[in-house]
Formats: sequence, structure tokens, C-alpha cells
Amino acid sequence: MTLSKPQIVDWLTEQRPRRLERLWAMADQVRREHVGDDVHLRGLIEFANVCQRNCLYCGLRSDNTNVSRYRLTEDQIMDCVGQAVTFNYGTVVLQSGEDPDLDLDWLCNLVRRIKRETDLAVTLSVGEYEDDDLSRLRDAGADRYLLRFETSNAKLFDRIHPPAPGQPKRDRMEILRALRRLGFEVGSGVMIGIPGQTWSDLADDLLAFAALDLDMIGVGPYISHPNTPLGKYLERYLAPQAEQVPATELMTYKVLALTRLICPRTNIPATTALATLNTESGRELGLQRGANIIMPNLSPTEHRQEYEIYPDKACVKDSAGQCLLCITGRVAMIGRTVGKGRGDSPNVHHRRAAEPTQ
Ligand code: SAH
Ligand code: SF4
Repeated sequence: MTLSKPQIVDWLTEQRPRRLERLWAMADQVRREHVGDDVHLRGLIEFANVCQRNCLYCGLRSDNTNVSRYRLTEDQIMDCVGQAVTFNYGTVVLQSGEDPDLDLDWLCNLVRRIKRETDLAVTLSVGEYEDDDLSRLRDAGADRYLLRFETSNAKLFDRIHPPAPGQPKRDRMEILRALRRLGFEVGSGVMIGIPGQTWSDLADDLLAFAALDLDMIGVGPYISHPNTPLGKYLERYLAPQAEQVPATELMTYKVLALTRLICPRTNIPATTALATLNTESGRELGLQRGANIIMPNLSPTEHRQEYEIYPDKACVKDSAGQCLLCITGRVAMIGRTVGKGRGDSPNVHHRRAAEPTQ
């Protein structure tokens, strides 16, 4: 569905419960028609929390000295991968901070090993890399790449996302286009309610999802972390009250639903950040308002608390097995099914089918 910017802003600012019920119903219907009832599970492995960056929103920023830093070994990661196989997940997502000491050969070998020893799809979420490095990761067998552009307002992005020390500024939109050229399934997304984010910015974010023709779109509420500049000095960063998007559960559902309407074939997770705002039923409501993916955590329980991008993250105390049981139960309760296989994005199939044959 094509929506104009004023129509998107109208939906984002809509408060009337009956109109919102209509939005949820439309999103659910479009989700059912284009990606079906399957909920695909992606095993998330947070393999290192070392980060050279100083994003103003994130608890893993390098200036936060209250974090005990860890890197999992290849064997520890392969143990998590083994659990993904046992649990019948079709995909593992390898996520980390931007570790300046990460050896790309090591990461390529890890991807090669997972691809050799399992049938899993491999998704990387490891930050900004040069095109040559991304090409090597693709050649090693990585299938998908997640890099949120966080906000399409370039000024706001630059304010909250300074370049890594000694490195030039990179344009995440350019990186997303490079990922597409290299043949990755491409995922991106934004945080909702970043201090300084306006209604107009968020509407532009939704239009950018469509323009980039994304295969996966992750949207979650911004959650304040006390050891970050945005957490400590919030007032300095907020937009004028009438313009500032609130970082609420309701706003997250609105953006989820609109994302589904605008990008009907994309894979959309009900994120952990959403489950953090509503541990009781955030995931279920997300799945009923546009989402079709869940990313259960496979990281070793002893390190989960150290991967504190934001505080009080849902499920930090659970084991991987508990996460599986909890999530499959929730999926069944709302009458949906757990997807089998890799769960590639229907958007990719659609794009390839539309490509001219030689
Ligand atoms: N270092 C990589 C991957 C880890 S961060 C990267 O930056 O891409 C993964 C995502 O966590 C980010 O894209 C951001 O959208 C989200 N995130 C970071 N801090 C957050 C916060 N305070 N609240 C909500 N989401 C946050
Ligand atoms: Fe590092 Fe990613 Fe956090 Fe930025 S958002 S500080 S790059 S982990």
C-alpha cells in the first residue's frame, strides 16, 4: 500500500481507539496475505560487547566503563549454534559491538564453519564495514545483514552516532545499497522516540523503508540508558514537545503496523525492546499488528546481562531452552505456527521474480 507523508503522520498521531483497531486489523490482514501465519524464529547470539563507538543512545558505547566486556570464543559460539540446530531454528543472527580488534578472517572462518556444519542461514549484525570486507563476508557464506539506519534525519543521526575514532563518517544508506549489490538479504530499521526525533522524521523513516525495498525491518522503542549522554542529559536533546515522538509501546505498534502496510512482504520482528516495555504481551501484540519474526536469545546466560544496550532487557535471566519454550507457547496461544526452514524474506523472492531474465 502506498501512503503519503501526511497520511503517515495522521496515523502516527492518531489517538482514537476505534481508528487504531482498524489500523491493527489492516496490518494483520496484509501480514496474513503476504507472509502467512508462520512465525520464524532467529537465534540471536550476542558474541561480543566490545565496541569502539560512542553512540549517544547505547549502553555498550566505549565511554561506558561500567560494562564488563566479553568476547565469546569460536567454540562458545559453535555451542550456541548447536542449540539453534537442536531447537530447529532456521537462522542464527551473529550480533556484536564494533570491536576494533575483531579479525575479519576469524569472522569469515566462523561463518564458513557454520555454513559447512549446518543448514542454517547466517545473519550478521556487526556494524559498519567497508565494501571489500562486506564482500569477503558474503563470499564466506553470510546470507543476511542487519544495519539499522536508526533515523533518516541525517543531522539527528550525526548527532547521536559519532564516527569511530580516527575513521571517516560512513553513510549507512550507502552501506545498505552496497549490501544489496553484494547479494545479501538486507535488513534495517529505526528506533522509535529517539530524543530529537519528530513526527516528520518518523514518517520519512517509513518512506525510506519502501524506497530501500528492505527485506527485513526491525523497529523498536528507544529505551533510555542511564550511562549514556541521551540518558543523562535528555532535556538537551528533546525536540519541542509538540514535535517529539514519544518512545512508547503504542507508538511502536503504530510503526509496526504502518511498516507492514507499506512493505507487505518484508520480514518484521516483534523486537526484544518491545517485549521490554510490555513483558506480559508485547511480543504477541506485535505479532498481531504486523510482525512475523521473533529472535529468541541464544547467548550464554552468564553474559546476557553484560550485553546491556539498554537496561532491564526482557529475558536476560532465561536460558536458551526457556526462551524457546516461552516463545513457542506464545506463538501457539495466538493461533499462529512456528515456521520451518530458513524463512527467507518473501520480498527477495518477489524481487527476483520481477527481475528481467537474460
Ligand atoms: N553494533 C551494531 C549492532 C548492535 S546494536 C550496530 O550498532 O549496528 C543493535 C541495535 O540496538 C542498534 O541498531 C540500535 O537500533 C539498538 N539500540 C541501541 N541502543 C538502544 C537503546 N538505548 N534503545 C533501543 N534500542 C537500542
Ligand atoms: Fe556500538 Fe552498536 Fe551500541 Fe553503537 S549501537 S555503541 S555501534 S553496539
